[in-house]
Amino acid sequence: MARILALYTGGTIGMEATPAGLAPAPGLLPQLMERLAEPGRTVEVVEYPDLIDSSAITVAHWNRLIDDLAEAWPRYDGFVVIHGTDTLAYTASVLAFALAGLDKPVVVTGAQLPLGEARSDGWANLSDALLAASQPDLAEVVVAFDRQLLRGCRARKLDAESFAGFSSPNAPPLAEFGITPRWYRSRWRQPGKGLRPTRLSSDRVAAFFLTPGISSQLIGHTLGQTPLDGAVLMSYGNGNAPADAALLEGVRRATARGTLVVNLTQVVRGAAQFGAYAISQPLAAAGALCGRDMTPEAAVAKLLLLASQHLTPQARREAFEEDWAGEVSAAA
Ligand code: ASP
Repeated sequence: MARILALYTGGTIGMEATPAGLAPAPGLLPQLMERLAEPGRTVEVVEYPDLIDSSAITVAHWNRLIDDLAEAWPRYDGFVVIHGTDTLAYTASVLAFALAGLDKPVVVTGAQLPLGEARSDGWANLSDALLAASQPDLAEVVVAFDRQLLRGCRARKLDAESFAGFSSPNAPPLAEFGITPRWYRSRWRQPGKGLRPTRLSSDRVAAFFLTPGISSQLIGHTLGQTPLDGAVLMSYGNGNAPADAALLEGVRRATARGTLVVNLTQVVRGAAQFGAYAISQPLAAAGALCGRDMTPEAAVAKLLLLASQHLTPQARREAFEEDWAGEVSAAA
């Protein structure tokens, strides 16, 4: 008998239409989910008292999830986190890094249409999430959405229009739910040796999207002046940026202050690579780390986790380069 705990945080999946637009409807989702009862598993649904639209997520919400999962860990075989889609990929990444050593599945899911609507994608997403959470050999944070199971720290919301809201552009799916589920077990991570949860103690991480024109100066100025724990620079192509004096000075100052500056590409698929083009070298020389093919969501989450650990700036830089949860490709 698989024992599953579902933590319901909010999102479209449990909303209903109001005169002001879609809004959370307390009590509705746990009641509808009773239809998903199946022999061979028990599902306990815990509805959070403040159901949020996930665009309002904060570090405090993430800490509550980390605390609740850690507290319930010994009593359940698998976990489902029901979440709004807007920041679902950030939450999946935060949990992937915060729940080090995990030895059970944590499946994050949501929907593009409320469960109460006849055409809702929520039924399939929840059914697949519960099935994944019942797999005794799945030991990672994953996203179940539109009949796919994706690694949580590789997933991104890439479509706000279709039911295929999520993809993991740099990593293949971990399962596909056709008439018969296909479990790609060879892609799954090995179980950890026991949960070592970390709470977040910083929210001072920001991402900057480079565009031609004044943006490199503005980003450089902000990096130089603002005490951040981490910064993600979304540069071009393979991690290229103009050798703009203000930008490089900002990266140097931030690095000298102990801020980790991570260079990523704005391009959805592929990797930032220092040295692929000569123009990326000054950024590396100024102190930026290379995020390779990590998603921006995973980079932000990893920097938040690093800022929450008692490490020297050099130890943080080294820890950033390590693979924590399958967030980078070996070849990238
Ligand atoms: N705005 C909603 C949220 O993220 C969107 C969704 O759930 O699909 O909570």
